[in-house]
Amino acid sequence: MRRLGFFQSIHIKFALIYLLLILIAMQIIGVYFIGKLELRLVENFKVSLNERVNMLAFSMEQEMIKEREDPSTLEKDIRNILRDYESEDIQEIQVIDNKSRVIGNSDPYSQGVVGRKSNIDLVKRTLLLGDSLDDVRRQGYDRVYISSTPIRSNGDTIGAIYLKARMENVYDDIKEINDIFVTGTGIAMAITAILGIFVAQTITRPISAMRKHVVELGKGNYSKKVKVFGQDEIGQLAMTFNNLSSKIQDAQATTEGERRKLSSVLTHMTDGVIATDKKGRVILINTPAVNMLDVSRETVLNESIVSVLGLDEQYTFEQLVHDIDTEILDFSTHKKQYIIKVSFSVIKKESGFINGLIAVLYDVTEQEKIESERREFVANVSHELRTPLTTMRSYLEALADGAWKDEKIAPQFLNVTQTETERMIRLVNDLLKLSKLDSKDYKFSKELINFTKYFHRIIDRFEMSKEQHVSFVRNLPEKSIYLELDPDKITQVLDNVISNALKYSPEGGTVIFGLTEANNEIVISVGDQGVGIPKDNINRIFDRFYRVDKARTRKLGGTGLGLAIAKEMVVAHGGRIWAESEEGVGTTVFFTLPTDGNQEGLEDEWDEV
Ligand code: ATP
Ligand code: MG
Repeated sequence: MRRLGFFQSIHIKFALIYLLLILIAMQIIGVYFIGKLELRLVENFKVSLNERVNMLAFSMEQEMIKEREDPSTLEKDIRNILRDYESEDIQEIQVIDNKSRVIGNSDPYSQGVVGRKSNIDLVKRTLLLGDSLDDVRRQGYDRVYISSTPIRSNGDTIGAIYLKARMENVYDDIKEINDIFVTGTGIAMAITAILGIFVAQTITRPISAMRKHVVELGKGNYSKKVKVFGQDEIGQLAMTFNNLSSKIQDAQATTEGERRKLSSVLTHMTDGVIATDKKGRVILINTPAVNMLDVSRETVLNESIVSVLGLDEQYTFEQLVHDIDTEILDFSTHKKQYIIKVSFSVIKKESGFINGLIAVLYDVTEQEKIESERREFVANVSHELRTPLTTMRSYLEALADGAWKDEKIAPQFLNVTQTETERMIRLVNDLLKLSKLDSKDYKFSKELINFTKYFHRIIDRFEMSKEQHVSFVRNLPEKSIYLELDPDKITQVLDNVISNALKYSPEGGTVIFGLTEANNEIVISVGDQGVGIPKDNINRIFDRFYRVDKARTRKLGGTGLGLAIAKEMVVAHGGRIWAESEEGVGTTVFFTLPTDGNQEGLEDEWDEV
């Protein structure tokens, strides 16, 4: 928050307002009071002077109307009387007779004017009109009061008294009072300022406390409380404030909790989630989505979702919002299949305005793979069934058309249909076996078996029934190896692997049987010197219906399911199966079976199994 300037602080503002109010009040009082005082003092001054002048006028009248033998005594008498009127204020008093002749002067240094004609305007007018006149004049820096008062006798104006008095004393008094007033105002303001600061503090302290509190709230610190100083409006404000901040704290905690829940849901879900703003820019992307799209979060944020999903050539953001519900993104390369399904849902405000888009990404590679395998499987099964059926139909048609009568051809044709039927039965049986293995709808009846002996027995069976000139080499250990297995199932595996080896062996070739023991497992191998399998297809021979050379193997009666069943069975026993081959040199099929690791002590007891 910005720091407040000195004069912006409410504290100082309060104190300044106090001072201004006091100043204005003092000014108004001062102007009124001093004005009135001045008027009164001047008035008093004039009244007191006028009283004295009136008394003097009376004395002068007496002197002037007095019968005198020597008229020159008048001036002397007047001077004597005037001497009594000398004072600090009175500068000069002149007595003038009705012929405007000065007959007395109080100022000892201005006795020269006595006997002369007065030319003072005010005096002339008094003599003429018989009125008292006065005026205030400036004499340099000083103010003087002048007045002219008539001396009357029996209604006639027989002379006038001219007075000139200094007013400075009066104004000095006023100035002194003014000074006292200014000093008083100063003291009052100083005291008010100090008091104002204290009084303002009582109001501003809770306000600044709240201000600090708001700053803390802004930083996310909700634990602090504002101190409540009283029950007045500010106190209530502080209480409301505390309530508000605890409510914000609760709301914040709820929001935070929800946010954490949401973020943990988003991180731990396996589906990818991307959220955008209303313009289609990515504002959220969870880790699974980042991994699925193989992008970095930083580069994707704020980018358009259309380009992030690589759909910019097909759609605009508006189309995604309005027209598209789901979309399949195929990121497959020739090495690896990778398919993502995206579902779009629009986030709308209550008002109906579109607020953004949520895209949920699912990895559907496996699903797609299963789906295509299923399609391929159905196609394969139909194809495998159609071939013998078409053959049978054509032979049966020929028989129906009359071939049944031919003693030579008829048994031959019936033989073909029989072979084809057997082939179909074998196929259906194989399919049933696989479907049982797939649905885990089978039971192992495991027995502890001396594998060396068991293997020899199976090889013996093939050696006796073999039709080709193929020699057998047995690289089997002397010692007994005990294993727990389902002999029927493993017999099926060995039957298929050995029959394959015989099927693909050339006339006069050798089939080599191997059995070795290693790391808690045994490795069984059956090798031949046949045509071999191309390197690219070597792992595919364990797929259902896979045959390297379709035409040839079908002639040999194979369905392409033998190794697929063998693989399922070996895996169900906890083993692995693989093949090594070189074209034109031969093929060896290996498979492992786990041993229990502890063979000692079993030999004597179980030798005859
Ligand atoms: P089935 O076993 O169902 O009668 P099949 O023998 O053709 O039919 P598999 O045993 O699954 O099917 O073998 C799959 C394919 O692998 C064979 O068709 C063949 O092309 C190839 N194959 C298997 N064993 C050998 C081998 N020893 N030498 C050469 N090719 C082989
Ligand atoms: Mg086979």
